[in-house]
Amino acid sequence: MTIPAIQINNIHKQFGDLQALNGIDLTINQGEFFGLLGPNGAGKSTLINVMAGLLKPTQGNVAIMGHDTVNAYQAARMALGVVPQELVFDPFFNVREMLRFQAGYFGRGRENDVWVDEVIESLGLTDKAHTNMRKLSGGMKRRALIAQALVHKPPVIVLDEPTAGVDVELRQMLWQFIKRLNKDGHTIILTTHYLEEAETLCERVAMMKDGKIVALDTTANLLSKLPGKNLRLVLGEATLPTTLFPMLKSGQNGVFTLALTELSQIEFALSELRKANIAVQDMQLIEADLEDVFMSLVGVHANEKAIA
Ligand code: ADP
Ligand code: MG
Repeated sequence: MTIPAIQINNIHKQFGDLQALNGIDLTINQGEFFGLLGPNGAGKSTLINVMAGLLKPTQGNVAIMGHDTVNAYQAARMALGVVPQELVFDPFFNVREMLRFQAGYFGRGRENDVWVDEVIESLGLTDKAHTNMRKLSGGMKRRALIAQALVHKPPVIVLDEPTAGVDVELRQMLWQFIKRLNKDGHTIILTTHYLEEAETLCERVAMMKDGKIVALDTTANLLSKLPGKNLRLVLGEATLPTTLFPMLKSGQNGVFTLALTELSQIEFALSELRKANIAVQDMQLIEADLEDVFMSLVGVHANEKAIA
């Protein structure tokens, strides 16, 4: 049997009175493209920091490629590349210096330079290789931090909200590169607020809430288990009758999406619209998506901002 990329056993993490992680068990196999989803405050970053050995769990243990993050910290750390959620960097280096330095920290020498150059190029950092870290724009800093996590070519790569506030160009470039790394055998673990991203990229996802895993399955199974569908109505200038508000999922510019739990609700929706003399300009029935699964399990939208 092959060693799992990540083995998480009964992890608890307490910050004072707050139980940030409350008994997490999770095995991620080598070669998986895995999504870790959950609203703000669910505990995703805390779990990632425990995986990276940056936080000591209150209880439980984690192994990366078979190496315990506490008893074999060095080996576990070597096997892992983490792109942190926060933009933290050393302001004194330029991009290439920072990457060489980081590679050296992991015991890599000049033989690694070809890989460093490949990472720089794949992330569109070539023009910025000699620019000081503190002079980079937010998007470029994000690229540099992604490069930093990959510099020692770790078998397991963890990305914590890598595309939050990132432009479309970088997103596409990043996913192209990460997909290639996954094809080459690297295990990818991703947290994201963009569930469309998770739906297209991740074979399997865990949904977290209040420090617990509330769902763990293949993306396909999670989608097929949800019986609901969405009804998309184009009403133009008219607004939705209030009787349909309880079913409303989203509404913008005269286009309203209703969440249906059974198909008979279509008749109800249409009769309410007729009663209110509202003409339907267009109508579509759409399959439920990962956002709907998330909503039904977690009770909030994935991209809903927590109020600090
Ligand atoms: P997520 O990444 O899913 O948004 P986090 O793991 O960042 O969630 O946070 C989980 C909970 O733990 C939150 O309530 C957060 O405020 C709290 N928390 C995270 N880090 C610390 C810390 N260093 N000290 C105290 N509380 C923390
Ligand atoms: Mg986080």
